Parts: sequence; structure tokens; C-alpha cells
Amino acid sequence: MNSAVIGGGLAGSEAAWQLAERGVSVKLFEMRPVRMPPAHSTGNLGELVCSNSLGADRPTSPAGILKQELRRLGSLIMRCADMSRVPAGRALAVDRDLFSSLVTREISRHPNIELIRSETDVIPDLPAIVAAGPLMAGGIADAVREIVGEGCLSFFDAAAPITTLESIDTDRAYMASRYGEGSDYINCPMDRELYEAFWWELVNAERVPLRDIDREGRASDEKTDTCPEVPGRFFEGCLPIEVMAERGIDTLRFGPMRPVGLPHPSTGREPYAVVQLRRDNAEGTLYNIVGFQTNLKWPEQERVFRMIPALEKAEFVRKGVMHRNSFVCAPRVLDCHLRPVKNQKTVRLDLHLAGQITGVEGYVESSATGLVAAIQLFHTLKGDEPPRWPDETAIGSLLNYLQSAEAGTFQPMNVNIGIFPKIETPPGHGRRKKIGKPERSMLYAERSREALEKFLERETAVLTRR
Ligand SMILES: Cc1cc2nc3c(=O)[nH]c(=O)nc-3n(C[C@H](O)[C@H](O)[C@H](O)COP(=O)(O)OP(=O)(O)OC[C@H]3O[C@@H](n4cnc5c(N)ncnc54)[C@H](O)[C@@H]3O)c2cc1C
Repeated sequence: MNSAVIGGGLAGSEAAWQLAERGVSVKLFEMRPVRMPPAHSTGNLGELVCSNSLGADRPTSPAGILKQELRRLGSLIMRCADMSRVPAGRALAVDRDLFSSLVTREISRHPNIELIRSETDVIPDLPAIVAAGPLMAGGIADAVREIVGEGCLSFFDAAAPITTLESIDTDRAYMASRYGEGSDYINCPMDRELYEAFWWELVNAERVPLRDIDREGRASDEKTDTCPEVPGRFFEGCLPIEVMAERGIDTLRFGPMRPVGLPHPSTGREPYAVVQLRRDNAEGTLYNIVGFQTNLKWPEQERVFRMIPALEKAEFVRKGVMHRNSFVCAPRVLDCHLRPVKNQKTVRLDLHLAGQITGVEGYVESSATGLVAAIQLFHTLKGDEPPRWPDETAIGSLLNYLQSAEAGTFQPMNVNIGIFPKIETPPGHGRRKKIGKPERSMLYAERSREALEKFLERETAVLTRR
């Protein structure tokens, strides 16, 4: 059995390793160090482009659950991370050079992997996994665009923060859609005094300097399929909220914070301004702040956005962030096996995407999709139907998010409690009794572990038997 993997980053290295461990011959194409993407600086496989932290490692945190699942499944990336760990409290931080050297060593000496240090502009005519990363450019980006269709491969500048429903003080807000057409939005009303104070803090808050973003390869000055370019570095259709606010004190009241058609149910009058929150996932456990894409520094986002009524204690599971990023609109193009088969005239069941381009966000999430793509492809190569991953696991929750997120506003997502199926009434608790956060986390972790073990008992080919 032969295959090709494009990109020796986190996802591609994991994918190549998983295929090779199952006896599949892999041609792994990595263009570094011959050609360097803007954020990378070495020729090592699995280079961490920014932070050296792979996030929380507490086994009951969502990021910790994902790591445990990857360890259980024999992940190369997790093994190398554990071997290169540096002290960082409850987070898994690594010595970045040691980490990527270990990944490079393991891949280079695997008998089933041929590492080809060159850029490829085409998707080889072999069973393949494309894991060319968020900074992919040139020929391979064109090849992916050709498969998923124009408009599906997006370049974006800033994203809005996302918060959990649980952390929103809904008593201080009201549910309504504009002009009485339903009650889909959480509306946070502001009077004039609060609005003006909020505006002032917003325009004066500290931002990530664009020159720093450029240096990291994070800002986009590329054209997108959907947003027309405007003078300056931003796109008019998705201006950062603080840039919009700078245009005048009332701009937001006539833009994303307009109160028109949103009378307060208790007074019947429209408030001075309204911040709206919209559901971000099928379960309704996550909400994004509508129109609040931002380039503020993260602590500033928390400080300023917590001035919004009902968000004083908001848990922002994803902060607003700005960088150049290529990803497909997963709910529109990917199936649950990470194959770009939706809306296609001709489909290749032996082609998968992996890594950040699938619409996940983060080092470990990218690695997880590499592992999944490899296992799914292995099943196809054997002539079997690829398995469906259980929703209750962190891996299954991520895959489920890629399927069920709102396509029109789709943005990359990291693992967090809001994407797991909600535990309604935990065993042993009365219907109305609220459980604390640590207990809740344990229940989610335990449920994920059990679901994964049952899955592995059933799908015996998922684990390697070496
Ligand atoms: C600037 C920046 C900073 C980030 N910081 C963080 C962070 O701190 N923490 C975090 O969790 N996530 C971060 N991310 C998000 C994401 O987790 C990383 O980008 C992660 O590396 C994605 O993994 P990947 O395997 O999809 O892509 P990558 O790790 O980028 O791997 C893609 C690989 O494909 C190779 N390649 C591309 N095109 C070709 C081609 N045509 N032929 C051959 N090889 C090719 C590239 O050289 C690269 O090695 C950041 C992203 C960016 C862009």
C-alpha cells in the first residue's frame, strides 16, 4: 500500500507516522528548508511556529482530554512532546528544538517513510493527505482550491471571541431576533453612559501591532474570494471592531451594536445600544459576539468586553485573533472522515485534508486531525468503511464541530467544553442541582474515556498492533 502526505508540520508528521506504523509506504513531502513559509525558521519536521506550549494538560480539561486520547492512540506528536517537556505548571510546554528534532528523527528513520525535501504544487495521484498548513501558498493552495471550489478556501484577518453559554449572565440580557422575527440572539443592552464608557475603552485599548503580526506571518494582505480589499490592511466586510469604532462615537450604534428592532421586553423601548451574541454550534453551548472581530491584545479583550452587561464573568473559550490563515469551510466541503467530498462532481475517497486547513485551531488539534486522517485513509486502503468517531470524545467533538458549525460564519476552532455534547443531568444528581466546574470536568473526562474505550473495542483496526 502506497500513499503521499504533503506537509511535514504537526498534522503531516503525525499522519505519515500513523500510516507507516500500519505498514503503509509513505512519501512525505516537506518543502522546508528549501523554501520557508513566513512563520517557520528551521527545517525540522513538526516545528512549533509560535508558542512552545501545547496547552493545558490537566486530564479533566478539554485540551487535556484530547491529549490523553492522542496518547492512548499512540500519537507521535504527543510522545515527542512528553519526551521534551519543560516545567510549565499544568500546561504541556516543550523544549521546541528538542521536540521538533525528535519528530524529525522518528520520521527520518522509519523504514516505511520516504522524506522528500521539496515543494509540491500538485496533489499526487496516490492515496493522499494534504497537511500544508495555514500558511500554504502557491501551487498547493491552488490545487486545494480547485478541489473544494472557489469561495470555500478562505483568507481571514480577524476573528471574534467566543464564549460559553454557561458563563453568560442571561438575567442581564434578553432573547430576541431583530424585528420580532424569533428569539435566536442573546441581547446585551447598554444605556448611553455605559455605551460611551465602553466606546472610549475600546478605541484606547492596546492592540497587537501590525508590524509584529507581519513579522509572524499573521496578517493578511492577500485578496480573499469573499471580502473586497480596502485601502489599509483590512477588509471592509470584516473590520476589527476597534477600527470601526475609531470612525466615530456613533459608528457602532449604526453598525454591529444597533438597537433597531430590538425593544427591551420589560420596557418596550429600544435600548441606546445592543451587543448581540449568536449561537456558534449546534448544541447551543457556545456563542460568538456578533461583529466583534478584533485585534486587541488578549488581556485587553477580557478587560473591555467584560464591560458588556451579561459578560462580566464571561469565559472566552476563543479570543479574537488576527493572522493570515487558509482553511476550508469544513461544514460545506468536508465529510466526517475529513475528505473534501461534499458538493463535488468527482470525488476521491482516498484524499483527506489534515491540520489547521480543516478548520481546527491549535497545535494539538492539528495533530489530532493528522492522526484521524491517517486512520480513516488506512481503512479505505484496506477496503473497509472508515469508522465514525464517537461524539463524546474530544476527537469526535472536534470532527462534529467541523460538520455542524454554521457554514456562513465558519471560523477555525480549538478544543473546548462547548463543543462536547452537553451532559444534561449527571448520574446521581437531582434534575435542578447545579454541579461545580471541577465535578463537571470530571464527568466529561470520564465519559470521553469510556466512549473511546468502547470505540476501540469495536473498531479493532484503529490501534496499531505492533
Ligand atoms: C503565525 C502563526 C502562529 C501560530 N501560533 C500558534 C500557537 O502559538 N499555538 C497554537 O496552538 N497554534 C498556533 N498556530 C496555529 C496552528 O496550530 C499552527 O499553525 C500549526 O502548526 C498547524 O499545524 P499544521 O500541521 O496544519 O501546519 P504546519 O505545522 O504549518 O505544517 C505545514 C507544513 O507544510 C509544509 N508545506 C506547505 N506547503 C507545502 C508544499 N507545497 N510542499 C511541501 N511542503 C509544504 C510547510 O513547510 C509546513 O512544514 C499558529 C499559526 C500561525 C500561522
